Amino acid sequence: IPISNIRNFSIIAHVDHGKSTLADRLLEITGTLNLEPDRKQVLDRLQVERERGITVKAVTASLQYISKKNKQIYLLNLVDTPGHVDFSNEVIRSLTACQSVILLVDAKEGVQAQTFANFYLAFVNNLIIIPVLNKVDLKNANTQMVGKQLSNLFEIEEKDILKISAKLGTGIIELLERIVSIAPAPPSERNAPLKALLFDSWFEKYRGVIILLYIQDGEIKKGDIICSHHTGASYTVNNVGIVRPNEYETDVLKGGQIGYVTCNMQSVKEARIGDTFYHKGHFVEPFPGFKPLRPMVFSGIYPIESSQYVALRSAIDKLTLTDSAVTLATETSPALGHGWRLGFLGLLHLEVFNQRLDQEYGAQTIMTAPSVTYKVRIIGEKNIKKYRTDELEISNPVHLPDVKIIKEMLEPTITGTIIAPFSDPVCFLAEYLSKIVSLCAERRGEEKSVSFLDESRVIIQYILPLNEIVIDFHDKLKNISSGFASFDYENNGYVISDLVKIDLLLNGEVVEELCSIVHRSKARKFGHELCEKLTEIIPRKQFKIAIQAAIGTKIIARENIKPYRKDVTQNLYGGDATRRYKLLHRQAEGKRKMRMIGKVEIPRDAFIKLLKT
Ligand code: GDP
Ligand code: MG
Repeated sequence: IPISNIRNFSIIAHVDHGKSTLADRLLEITGTLNLEPDRKQVLDRLQVERERGITVKAVTASLQYISKKNKQIYLLNLVDTPGHVDFSNEVIRSLTACQSVILLVDAKEGVQAQTFANFYLAFVNNLIIIPVLNKVDLKNANTQMVGKQLSNLFEIEEKDILKISAKLGTGIIELLERIVSIAPAPPSERNAPLKALLFDSWFEKYRGVIILLYIQDGEIKKGDIICSHHTGASYTVNNVGIVRPNEYETDVLKGGQIGYVTCNMQSVKEARIGDTFYHKGHFVEPFPGFKPLRPMVFSGIYPIESSQYVALRSAIDKLTLTDSAVTLATETSPALGHGWRLGFLGLLHLEVFNQRLDQEYGAQTIMTAPSVTYKVRIIGEKNIKKYRTDELEISNPVHLPDVKIIKEMLEPTITGTIIAPFSDPVCFLAEYLSKIVSLCAERRGEEKSVSFLDESRVIIQYILPLNEIVIDFHDKLKNISSGFASFDYENNGYVISDLVKIDLLLNGEVVEELCSIVHRSKARKFGHELCEKLTEIIPRKQFKIAIQAAIGTKIIARENIKPYRKDVTQNLYGGDATRRYKLLHRQAEGKRKMRMIGKVEIPRDAFIKLLKT
């Protein structure tokens, strides 16, 4: 198939707007689905994706389509992008392989926060955008109004908007014809040296690492020696082929095509998304904008019983083999034992990982409350020499250096987009909008814009510290809006912030697991709440226990637990010595599940409760 008859495109949509259904329909109508074992929603491979209705991994499929108009054969490569900005790096990479996108919007729900974020990704990548309204079969579809929204927001001509029902299959042929007629062919040179973009990879037990490449120029076949631009490593190609979406081996992949390659890569960590490959000895300029994945949200993970450590380690190892975006470091907590600190691209990524761990490996875990990475600028030549940098990255508050050598601290921020629908404008302005605004203000948000999308929808943009949304922001927003507001965010870089480390002390001794980094304006409240919670959780002792929260040497909150005399043998006057012994023995056993802080013990359960909230 000549380059001029190739179309590489992607579908971008908010969750549940019908991306997977449309992809299935495209496979079906082009006859590709008949080649696959009977499976609904072929493009969503993971169980977690089906349950959550999101696509986590980009999945690609090559389709053949004979145009009804000019009877020519076209090769359509559908690149299914992940639907969430946590995975925006993957979305951007997938988009680099495309020349056009289908902007798919639910005709009932209208434009949502993710539609917005994804539209801009496509727009800045100079892609041809094909606007499509889905679910027009629904009785209460607002086809006209949503069409207006699209034209207002994205400067799309209303007459160019296609109306389809992915579920019923109506309008799909028109969509295919539109792709063929207006989407550009890839700008490829088949006679030039190989230049290929790696935009996805996964791991299979017997075949090892499989990478997906977009062949911009040249061609690639079995036996070729290819080099990674980013790592400099070279590999021998074992197999090449196309995905439909299962793999079919072919002799060669030519310029403009999308396909898979297996080579002697050992782990997905070597397959850097966005990396450029070329033939050994024939260096080419790489694709621009390669960015290594950066974890944004961190969480400690521990086995529920320490005896499950080995099993959990094996499950985590397996899962990180297939998800190269997760970073992993071992961590030890005096209360929880041996575990790991995992880094994720965002909150959804964290939840998905945890759910897969549970579903695919049956691993029961304790995950600590998520936190972010702070940057710490330090002063003093000696210190800079010692740390070999003047800017440290801290993802665990325990590792914060002494305040005396800290010049300033920075925290990550995001640009959050909230789209909130309403039916009664008076009521909305009076109550609901002010609740959203005060939620953002309470989370140290800075208003960027509030504007009306149409008569029944407002779009609110805030710059917020990531730290303030990692816990329960989304839930609170859903609560306020009875589930109707949608929220999405993009990274907005680091800013200097007045942050402090709060230590928690029990009878004067610091409890490492419970120290945190918070904004100074919230320190007092945070300290009080933590102390109060601890009074409920720590069992009384025969002596008084002082619980204190402190910034450096300054105590900011204090609670006491009154003494209480507990004697497990008090009910056993006289009598059976072995019974008395047994009781004492049991108590000793219980102690082993305790974390001793000086003379104070904290039950493991209490720690779990505290660390989770
Ligand atoms: P995704 O999250 O964008 O991949 O969305 P899905 O393809 O999983 O679709 C979400 C839900 O919308 C599913 O329950 C689909 O059956 C339903 N759906 C998708 N397309 C249509 C359509 O054209 N009409 C109707 N009525 N429902 C649809
Ligand atoms: Mg889907």
